[in-house]
Amino acid sequence: MFGIGVSLDSSGLQKRDGDNGMEGLYRLLPVPVQNLACTLYGFRERRVRLSRFFWDRYEWLLQTEGASTDEIRAYQDEQVALLIEHAYNNVPYYRRVMDERGLKPKDIVSVQDLRKLPVLLKEDVVGKRADFLSSATNQRQLVPSKTSGTTGTALVFFKSKEAVAFQWAVWWRHRSRFGFRPLTWHLNFTGRPVVPASQSSPPYWRWNLPMRQALISMQQLRPDRVVELAKFVDSHRFPYFTGYPSFIHMFAYLLEDRGIELHSHPQYVFLGAENTYDFQREAIERVLKTRVTDQYGFSEGAGNASKCEYGVYHEDWEFGVLECGDPTVMADGAVRGKIVATGFSNYAFPFIRYEVGDTAVWAPPGYQCPCGRQSRVILRIEGRTEDYVITPEDMRVMRFDYLFKDTESIREAQVVQREEGSIVIRVVKRPTYSRTVEDHIREKVRNWISPSLKVYFEYVDEIPRSRSGKFRAVVSELSGREAFSSD
Ligand SMILES: [Zn+2]
Repeated sequence: MFGIGVSLDSSGLQKRDGDNGMEGLYRLLPVPVQNLACTLYGFRERRVRLSRFFWDRYEWLLQTEGASTDEIRAYQDEQVALLIEHAYNNVPYYRRVMDERGLKPKDIVSVQDLRKLPVLLKEDVVGKRADFLSSATNQRQLVPSKTSGTTGTALVFFKSKEAVAFQWAVWWRHRSRFGFRPLTWHLNFTGRPVVPASQSSPPYWRWNLPMRQALISMQQLRPDRVVELAKFVDSHRFPYFTGYPSFIHMFAYLLEDRGIELHSHPQYVFLGAENTYDFQREAIERVLKTRVTDQYGFSEGAGNASKCEYGVYHEDWEFGVLECGDPTVMADGAVRGKIVATGFSNYAFPFIRYEVGDTAVWAPPGYQCPCGRQSRVILRIEGRTEDYVITPEDMRVMRFDYLFKDTESIREAQVVQREEGSIVIRVVKRPTYSRTVEDHIREKVRNWISPSLKVYFEYVDEIPRSRSGKFRAVVSELSGREAFSSD
C-alpha cells in the first residue's frame, strides 16, 4: 500500500533486520559522524540502486516510452510466460497452487491467463519466506526488505539487487519526464529518523553525499524548527524535493502557519510512497511555488505507475502488470477495482497476482492521453483518510508504520489519540507476540517521535474499518479538530 517501505523513501538508510542496536547507537553519535553514517549507507545503497544494471535499464526505459499497444501487450505476455515458468520450477508456493489446479507453465502464457491463478494476499506471504524464495537465487544477490503497510502488518521479503536497480530506474524515468537526470542534488523528506527527536538545536538535516541528497526527517517538522528549516532550504537552492506527500505538506503547512516565505523554490516536487490528496497538492504548490507530480509504487516492487507531463498515471508496463481485480464498470466506461500486481523483475521472491490493498480507477477503453503514450492509464488511485496525532511538542504525526516494521508478530495496528499527551496503540496480535514488543515500540516512540508522549496498548481481535470499509492507520478522537482529509 503506497509502499511505505524504506526503499521508497530514498533516504539511503534502508534498515536491515536486526539493526535495532545500530539505531540506538546512531542516535548517540555526534552530528558529523551521523552525516558520515548517512553517507556510508549512501555508498552501500548507490552500489545497488545505481549499479551498471540500473543504467542499462534506465537508458532502455527512456526508449520504450514510445512503444505501441501491440508491442506492450507482446512484451507483457512474454514476461508472464517467463515468470510463470521460473516460479513453477523454483518457488514452492507457486508450484503448489499450480499443481493443485492442474496447471502447467504452458497454461499461463499471457496477462489474460494470469486469472487462472488465485490472488495473493499479504497475509499469505507473512512469515512464509521459505515458500516464496526462489531456489535458483544466489543468496549473495539478495537484499532484505520489509514493509509495514497501512494496517501495521510487517512483511519481510527479499529482492534481488537487479530488482532494486530496476525499480529505481522506473522511478528515475518518472523524474526524467520533468527534466531531471539521475544524481541531481535534491532534498528528501524522509520517514527515516536520521535526526533524533531529542536534538534541540540545528542542524535539523543530514547529508547523503553518494545519493546527492539532503535529508530532513519527519520528526523535525515542528513549529519551533521551521524557521531554521526554511533558512536551510533557501541557502541550498535545491532544484527539486522528493518525499512523502504528508511530510512535504506538513512543511508547507508550517511555513504558511508561521507566515514564512521561501526565497528558493524547487522547480518540482516528486511525491511517492503514499496517496497524494488534492488538498495536499494544492497547498504544496501554492506555498512552495512549485509543481507537484507523483508516482504510485509499493515496496513489494510488483508494479508501478508514474504520472506523465499531463498529470496522468501510466502503468510502468516494463516493470510489472497491474490488473484490475473485482472490476466495476462506471457510467463513463472507466473501471474501478482492486490493484492486483505481478512484478517482472524480482525472480528471487516473485509476487504474482498480489493484492496490494489499494483501489484504482482505470481509464475507459480507447482513452488517449495527450502525451501520446500507449501504456495503460489509471485515472486515479483511491486512498485512505489520514488523521494525525499531536505530540506534547506540538508536532503533528501522520505516519507510525515504521514503529511496526520490525515485528512480524503484529497482525494489524492502529494508533488512536483520545486525549492530549498520550496515544493508544491498538494491536491485533499473532501467536508469536510478546510483551517485549511493547517496550520496543515505546522506546521507538520516545527516541524518534516524542520523549514525553505516553503510549498505552490495547489488544483487540480485530480493528474496525470505516463506514466505507477503509482501514485507518491513525484515528484522532480529540474534539474540535478536523482531519486534514475531507474523505
Ligand atoms: Zn500521458
